[in-house]
Amino acid sequence: MSLIVHTIPAFTDNYIWLFHQPGNNRAYVVDPGDASPVIEALNRLELSLGGIIVTHHHPDHVGGIHQLLDNYQVPVYGPKGITQVTHIMKDGDSLNLAETAFDVLAVPGHTLDHLAYFTAGEPLVFCGDTLFAGGCGRLFEGTPEQMWHSLSRLAALPAETLIYCTHEYTQANLEFALAVEPENKVLQQRALQVQQERQQNQSTIPSTLTQELSSNPFLRANQPSIRKAAEEHEGRPANSDEDTFAIIRRWKDHF
Ligand code: ZN
Ligand code: FE
Repeated sequence: MSLIVHTIPAFTDNYIWLFHQPGNNRAYVVDPGDASPVIEALNRLELSLGGIIVTHHHPDHVGGIHQLLDNYQVPVYGPKGITQVTHIMKDGDSLNLAETAFDVLAVPGHTLDHLAYFTAGEPLVFCGDTLFAGGCGRLFEGTPEQMWHSLSRLAALPAETLIYCTHEYTQANLEFALAVEPENKVLQQRALQVQQERQQNQSTIPSTLTQELSSNPFLRANQPSIRKAAEEHEGRPANSDEDTFAIIRRWKDHF
């Protein structure tokens, strides 16, 4: 892995990602919900801003763009419908930043405009509020079917892909995951490890797709163990993987 990705904590549990090539001080920021921690990081790390990437329109992902543009005149890449976006991105586009080729994936569900940025070279994905470590985003705009399809696209990326999501929700997510799948040994292990990391105030992000495939219930709605748990919770048979996903997403909303 050659790309350097810096973690910038923001608000209570957001992460803003700042990436650049070693030896090149031109950096790119993903989902700057707040400008001041980004400016502070750029100054501390002696980096200049080359551009801004946005996954979706929520304020905790776009709120800092305006102030960043006051300080740096840079392009803003993101979905259509966001005022400050200068370069509209859509599914199937590719984007070359920091000597790195990113594929743009439409991943609606959390919001309808949601995009993810994947690079096969590292490999890593900036997936915003779609896939979380141990969980997935709430369905504010999309249907469970859309979200399941979006998560399935992310699940099909190379297993070693690093998952750069935007929130530190991992510990609570894994508590829910254990309620769904208490017998899952990989999940039990992961929950213990995450608990230790959080006790030491460490970030649990990025995770790997391998970890998510083996312990994230929302990527596992096509597994018999998850389907069975969903059916028991709902008190009726599940009709499909989408239906299983819909049941556990609702279950988590009230957990
Ligand atoms: Zn969001
Ligand atoms: Fe968010």
